[in-house]
Amino acid sequence: MGSTLTVGNVEIMALVDATASAPCSLMFPTLSDEQWAPYEAQLDAHRNIPLTIPSFVLRSGGKTIVVDTGVGAKNRPIFPNGRLPDALADAGIRLEDVDIVLATHIHIDHVGWHTTLRGETYAPTFPNATHVFNRDEYDFFTSPAQVPVWEHVRDCVLPLDGAADIALVDGEHRLTDEIMLLPTPGHTPAHVSVAIMSQGEAAVIIGDVCHHPAQMIECGWSPVFDMNPALAAESREKLMQRIEDDRMIAVGGHFAHPGFGRLVRVDGRRTWQAL
Ligand SMILES: [Zn+2]
Repeated sequence: MGSTLTVGNVEIMALVDATASAPCSLMFPTLSDEQWAPYEAQLDAHRNIPLTIPSFVLRSGGKTIVVDTGVGAKNRPIFPNGRLPDALADAGIRLEDVDIVLATHIHIDHVGWHTTLRGETYAPTFPNATHVFNRDEYDFFTSPAQVPVWEHVRDCVLPLDGAADIALVDGEHRLTDEIMLLPTPGHTPAHVSVAIMSQGEAAVIIGDVCHHPAQMIECGWSPVFDMNPALAAESREKLMQRIEDDRMIAVGGHFAHPGFGRLVRVDGRRTWQAL
């Protein structure tokens, strides 16, 4: 499987902005080595969780849609600068040709390339795009009480105001006839996943509902990044059940690139099978 998946009439291309890794013990401090044992093969040699920092390009109904924009080039000590514009150029996609930029949520590794430094100020990276956010997510992260807590909002999101088209949407919003947002709150107040349904085939970009495939099986495992762990676990269980029931291809952003796979039953047990 390459980095492009076709679902009916929709093309999903997985791109890598950057890569990172985090120790299990840091991301899931309450879990023991025994609990991780069945999933050891999906950890690296140092028992770290490898994390792809992805971006996805969807082609649907004549629209070019970018889902999540990585860490950007903000010279932050905790992340290397990303390479999304180069990855897009390699794929033959010009920044000005992107119609819609969607954030699954407003964490630092998902809105990085929403803006680019031009001179002294941050300008929209995708000049002709409508920037779609869930309304509750946008209102929370851009509120005066939260901006000081989430510094990246200042250089990734606030500069769009007045400089780019912004669309705040609610609930199961349709981006095109074939692409619909699915509310999956918990990781952040109004995190969304992205369902793709076309010609009887279905896939879903799960955003940060899971950071590691083990969570697709162990839906109660919430990393320290989940703002509301109980709600995140509930959303995770619900979405995994739907992926299994509807035989959807799941796209795990932070999983090993390209992150495409299925949930299947092996000896009655739910199992992640990467494509
Ligand atoms: Zn993330």
